Amino acid sequence: MIMGVNIGAFVFYMLVFCVLPITFGVRRVVGGKRKLKANAGGEGRCGQCGYLVVGLTKMMCPECGRDLREVGILPGGNDRKQCERSIRVGRWMIRIGVLLGLLVIYAVIAASLQRV
Ligand SMILES: [Zn+2]
Repeated sequence: MIMGVNIGAFVFYMLVFCVLPITFGVRRVVGGKRKLKANAGGEGRCGQCGYLVVGLTKMMCPECGRDLREVGILPGGNDRKQCERSIRVGRWMIRIGVLLGLLVIYAVIAASLQRV
């Protein structure tokens, strides 16, 4: 106990509400960016159903049967969207971790001031 603050509880709350979400968030962002980069070459995917259409000889999707000139070919398709969502969620986890960390610090300061 320093200045009426339980250091063990403080460290525990910081770990759970601040360090953990930030760690997971950073991992998501880094992993998502790495996947996006690996995907940058752009595997072509069907604009209708997302089926991988690299190496096809006809302009026809074998999965949904649509003409690829009509529905278009997506670069990276669903994987790209998934990576971007993962990065977005990761960034939010980091923000929430920082916010909760500040709240824990604020709560500890408020508690220690009350006991003086
Ligand atoms: Zn298709």
